[in-house]
Amino acid sequence: MNKPEYIKAQSFSSNNRDQILQSKRCGCFYCLAIFPPDIIEKWQGDDDSNISETAVCPFCNRDSVIGDVSGYPINVNFLQRMYMACFRDIIIE
Ligand SMILES: [Zn+2]
Repeated sequence: MNKPEYIKAQSFSSNNRDQILQSKRCGCFYCLAIFPPDIIEKWQGDDDSNISETAVCPFCNRDSVIGDVSGYPINVNFLQRMYMACFRDIIIE
């Protein structure tokens, strides 16, 4: 069975600095905020490196941000499906 696109999209929420900075629109699938990448102030890295490559949402402070360069739609409907799958384990077909 193929995974729904909004579950595959989750992989774009880590180590995503290049993807986010090249995007025009970014979205957070935790708080469902949609925003341009230039308002992101915090980036977080792996615990064992000093490199910060993962965008942190400026609204809810979570590392659950994807950008439109990922190829996925950045809208509330899509982000909400990601939220349900990633944080509530509920798959909406
Ligand atoms: Zn957020």
